[in-house]
Order: sequence, then C-alpha cells, then structure tokens
Amino acid sequence: MASKTQEVIDRAEKWGAHNYHPLPVVLTKAEGPFVWDIEGKRYLDMLSCYSALSHGHRNPRIIAAMERSLKTITLTSRAFYNEPYAEFCEKLARLAGLDMVLPMNSGAEAVETAIKIARAWGYRVKKVRSNAAHIITAAGNFHGRTISIVTFSTEEGYRAPFGPFTPGFSTIPYGDLDALEKAITPDTVAFLVEPIQGEGGIIVPPAGYLKKVVELCRKHNVLAIFDEVQTGLARTGRMFAFEHEDAKPDLLILGKALGGGIMPVSATVGTRAVMEVLQPGEHGSTFGGMPLSMVVGIEALDVLIDEKLSERAARLGEMAMGRLRDAKLPGVREVRGKGLLIGIQYEEYMGGAHTVGEALIRRGVLAKDTRVDTLRLAPSLTIEEKDLHEGLAAVEEATREVSAARKH
Ligand SMILES: *Cc1c(COP(=O)(O)O)cnc(C)c1O
Repeated sequence: MASKTQEVIDRAEKWGAHNYHPLPVVLTKAEGPFVWDIEGKRYLDMLSCYSALSHGHRNPRIIAAMERSLKTITLTSRAFYNEPYAEFCEKLARLAGLDMVLPMNSGAEAVETAIKIARAWGYRVKKVRSNAAHIITAAGNFHGRTISIVTFSTEEGYRAPFGPFTPGFSTIPYGDLDALEKAITPDTVAFLVEPIQGEGGIIVPPAGYLKKVVELCRKHNVLAIFDEVQTGLARTGRMFAFEHEDAKPDLLILGKALGGGIMPVSATVGTRAVMEVLQPGEHGSTFGGMPLSMVVGIEALDVLIDEKLSERAARLGEMAMGRLRDAKLPGVREVRGKGLLIGIQYEEYMGGAHTVGEALIRRGVLAKDTRVDTLRLAPSLTIEEKDLHEGLAAVEEATREVSAARKH
C-alpha cells in the first residue's frame, strides 16, 4: 500500500545518503512538546532533537525575534560588525561567568574551535614543544563527527572506515581522576570532557568529579574544556551542568539549545587569557555570528532566564525520575540522569531500548535509544507537567508490554 508515509520514505532512501536509520515516521507539523506526522497522528516528543528543542517546537518568542531580524538584516559575514553579535557575546559570556565568546554553527565546529584554541594556547602560553600538543579525552565520549573528533571516539562504528586519524589525542576512562593525572605529560594542553555523557548513555560521573577535574587541570597547567553541547542551557537543572559542582572550566562548548530549536547556533566560551591567543585570520566561519543566528541565540537565552527553565528542569526531572523508580518497572536495570536528561537502562532480555521505543511510537510518544540498552528521555523544558505525566505513563506501559512479551 503506497501510503503518504511510505512515498516520502522511499524517496528519502533513494535520493538521500543512508547515514541515519530513522524511525518510520514522517513529521510535518510541530508545536511546543508535540509533533504531527503526515497521516495526522500526534506524538509527544520526548527526544527533543537530543536537547536542541529545549524551548519546545516553534517557541513563539524566538519565532517573533527571528521574524523581526528577517525584516531588517540576516547575514553580514564577520568582515563587518553587527549589533546582535556584540549583544550575544556579552550576554553569553556573563551568563557563563566567562570572558569571551566565539560563535559557530554546529556543535562539532565549536569543539574543533576549542581544540584549535587549546593547541594555540599550548604553543604560545604554556610553551609546549612545537607540533607536540596533546589533548586528553574520555572513553565513551561524543563530541561530533569531523575527522579529528572521531579520532578520539571509542565507538568503532563512528570511526572504522575514516582513517587516517589526527595525532595528538589520547583517551582515559570516564570519571577516573587517577587516570587523568597519570595521562598528563609536559605536552598536555587540555582535557576535553562532557559533564554527563549524553550519547554515551546518560552516564553521570561520580559526585565531585568535575570540581576535581578543574583542580587537577589547574595544578598541572592544563586547560579544562567542558563540552556542554547537550548538558548546557538549563537541561540538567542548572544553566550549565558545571554549576552543580561550582567547577568553572577554561573553555565551555555550547550548541544544540543555543539555537532555540530553529537555527544551528554554537559557541566556544572562555577566559580572556585563553581566548586571546587567537589572532585575526587564524579561525573563522562564513555563517558563524550572523545577525539572524545571534538574534535567535539572544532570545533563546532570554527565554531560559525569564521562564526559569533550569529550576523547572530540576523540579520536573526529580519528579520524573522519582516516578520511574517508584514504578519498579520490570526489565529496568537503572534510572539515572540530572534534571530532564534521563536515561532508562534495560536488562539484556529486553532486547535493546529500541524495543521500548517502538512500543512508545504506537502510544504516540517519540523517544530513542542511546548505546543500545538505554532509552533517553529529554522532553522540552517547557513541557506541561500533565503532558510529561502522560509521556511517563506511556513509558511505563511500553516497558511492561515489552517485558511481558520477552520474559519467556
Ligand atoms: C550533539 C553533540 C555534539 C555535536 O553537535 P553537532 O551540532 O551535531 O555537530 C557535540 N558534543 C556533544 C556533547 C553533543 O551532544
């Protein structure tokens, strides 16, 4: 039967490269925490584009700001100044308690930017041997998809056919402070780490880890770089996940929700002493810092602040994790997370978290597995409490259904 859904899927599969394996749903309309497919069916979006939709779909304030910008100015290049760029940089630097901002577009670009700045800082300030700068990363990381970034991925599927890789990186176990201290050499310029590993399966490190990371980095004159592309901007119940431990990094990487669910906007934020190593002409981006993106970014930050979305994420997250744990669901090994970044890890007999994801689709809820056995729940931070409860009820039913079907 040639449904509208199947027509779109066939066309996408024929003409689009096969670098994703999407669920068989064609989305055409979205508002707040909901999306609709091409057949008119409504779903509650509990994935929120991996946190990029923290403000909800088509947030009216961000849309309005963007429309104003569309009527005045959109793109300038960084060959000239523009006012939203200045405002965005000041606002974001103050919010993070850091000094300078370099806007880019995708998360991976902001990670690459941080790597370039750390290396330049190594040669110009720390005075490491030329071409020897070393950066430590953590096993199970996800920082994006460029060649240099997949160099230090520990997922074979992300790197297998893409060598040769970029020299200058090593990997240590996540959450392990002794391993970090042992891995530091005279050439080490930075430790790049996620405060919670999102793609890695919602892995929360031991309490106090981030603070100790920053202390160890200070002690050895190594930059602490926190990739908060997924954890930043209110998702975990604080504006930045590092605030849970008062562990301010030298460089902070943001993306996803910085674009308000509308534009790709990312940024590398840092202390003046580190950011100032960059000289004009050494780094750039055609679209990075464009007025349209900056206006969207400013409004995205203002919405988070005005609507106290970090407090909301903390409260709703605690409620959601409490409810899921109290439900004592069969087949669940662990419920973990912070704020509204929640992972449900399933027992092996459940056959992977995608089984529950598929049962959820039939109940009108969208959620995806990460690292095979963990279901990620990351609804928009603006979600109404009753909608969240409905979503959680669906997760509980779907879990029980899959468990009953696979138990014997
Ligand atoms: C998504 C993500 C990235 C990459 O962002 P893109 O915009 O897809 O390039 C980097 N780091 C973390 C922690 C992420 O979750």
